[in-house]
Amino acid sequence: MNGFWSALLAVGLACPVHAVAISADMPAEMRLSLEEALNFLEGIRSGQAKESQLHRELFGGIDGAAYDAFIDANVREIIPGECDPEPPMGCKVLARTYGWDQIQITPSFPRVDVVRRAVVLLHEARHFSLPDHGGHVVCPKPFLDAQGRDIVSVLTGESVAGLKSCDVGANGSYGLEYVFLTNLARGCSNCTEEITSKARFWAEQAYYRINDGSARAALRQD
Ligand SMILES: [Zn+2]
Repeated sequence: MNGFWSALLAVGLACPVHAVAISADMPAEMRLSLEEALNFLEGIRSGQAKESQLHRELFGGIDGAAYDAFIDANVREIIPGECDPEPPMGCKVLARTYGWDQIQITPSFPRVDVVRRAVVLLHEARHFSLPDHGGHVVCPKPFLDAQGRDIVSVLTGESVAGLKSCDVGANGSYGLEYVFLTNLARGCSNCTEEITSKARFWAEQAYYRINDGSARAALRQD
């Protein structure tokens, strides 16, 4: 089942109207993938599942309305952006903050699964709610995972060691990714198995962008 149809099933074929504005200049493919991601987020339900403490502090309960409200509180508009620079392999980022309250998505945004697209929007929205927009810090060099492998960007395949692609502490944009994704994986009542397995995969990618052990431990215990 491809990402589009599984996302539709995950939201019960509902197409709620989201409040955040999408630029009229948004190219059709980018708009479709963006609306799919926003609809996916808004469609998330948890049944009886209880959220973690960090999730409660960030969003409240595991529910689409809470994620929608988080984006609306921090983002005025989502606009199209270019790859910068234009590499042969595609863009180095899926999205970036722009100005005080806009998110730019790049031409690579439609090329990743709906879980990744949804969490990128929350990641960028989180920047706006942090002092100085919660800029990232340089990842250590070397930067290895628990198995001693180089930590690489899934998007570019490049090592992130020495790149400004990490966070200190559990409260930044990568911490938010981890908290959202782990709560989704264990608490979403209307997600497909494909969606929850993607959530677990992307949670581990976010975990390895946090370069201090105490923050990692706090996230694992949350
Ligand atoms: Zn960021």
